[in-house]
Amino acid sequence: MKIGHLKINGIDDKRPVIIAGPCSAESREQVLNTAQSLASKGIRIFRAGIWKPRTKPGGFEGVGAVGLPWLKEVKEKTGMLTSTEVATPYHVFEAIKAGIDILWIGARTVANPFAMQELADALKGTDIPILVKNPVNPDLELWIGAIERIYGAGIRNIGVIHRGFSSYEKKLYRNLPLWHIPIELKRRYPELSMFCDPSHIGGKRELVAPIAQQALDLNFDGLIIESHCDPDHALSDAAQQLTPDVLDYTLSMLVIRDNAQTTEDITVLRKQIDEIDEQLLATLAKRMRISKEIGTYKKEHNMPILQEGRYNDILENRAKLGKAMELNPEFVAEIMKSIHEESVRVQMEIMK
Ligand code: PEP
Ligand code: MN
Repeated sequence: MKIGHLKINGIDDKRPVIIAGPCSAESREQVLNTAQSLASKGIRIFRAGIWKPRTKPGGFEGVGAVGLPWLKEVKEKTGMLTSTEVATPYHVFEAIKAGIDILWIGARTVANPFAMQELADALKGTDIPILVKNPVNPDLELWIGAIERIYGAGIRNIGVIHRGFSSYEKKLYRNLPLWHIPIELKRRYPELSMFCDPSHIGGKRELVAPIAQQALDLNFDGLIIESHCDPDHALSDAAQQLTPDVLDYTLSMLVIRDNAQTTEDITVLRKQIDEIDEQLLATLAKRMRISKEIGTYKKEHNMPILQEGRYNDILENRAKLGKAMELNPEFVAEIMKSIHEESVRVQMEIMK
């Protein structure tokens, strides 16, 4: 798969590209009101969910196709491009017929390969830009598989949206950012345009700005942010939507990093990092050789691989050492666990 940068007609790709609008289109007035305020703040791409995938039945499931003419009116009155979510071939046909400019595929749909294939088949022969959200579960291969299905339908104008991953425990975030997943996606497909959806990651208004800033610090190409003319009375995702005024203020406060800077100044520091990584690997290799020797000793003396207390002693002692060195205790625990796991695996090989 050779994915280039997303091209949206009429939008220059000056970072960050902003898409904003309500979670759901609720009424003609709400859609036009919100769109007009956003357009007056310079927003060029409008979003609104016409069909809403709700976790449980009985919630507001979107107004359906009757809302499509409202989006057409937004386009005519404000000049903004419009975008909406599609989850079935019927949505695709209706949205394209109504002149929607950009389609996104939601997290729940991306997690379902059957639904993705149906969408890909329905999109064959079109050249509408498609944004593929990450699946609800933290599975990079599933995300890439969904992108491949769209690519396989001949669509080349593809971008992705990082909207976080659901977890059983909801603490700070509605959906965990797990930044390493989009970072790995970008490593594999460097040209792929990446949007961040801080509204669905945060789930609360106050978190939109800091998450958006993190995304820009990580060089994301754009942001998709929920904005509603009367957020408190929104029929879906009320807690995370910003008024157009607050959105405008939030955007004005974001620091946009300069990705055209030369990297000369950090070359020296990067060299040091390269050397340190080499030393780390050499140290790990040495540790594994010693683990093997211990494994051989245990085998010769008919001892079990795991001795009571030893693993806990290691964890406790390394946690103390790490703390004294001002390392993050969770990070130290994670590293020590995976080193120990590998040592056990190496010794099990010897026991065979
Ligand atoms: C949305 O964008 O309103 C939406 C439903 O998002 P997600 O698919 O990320 O949950
Ligand atoms: Mn929403």
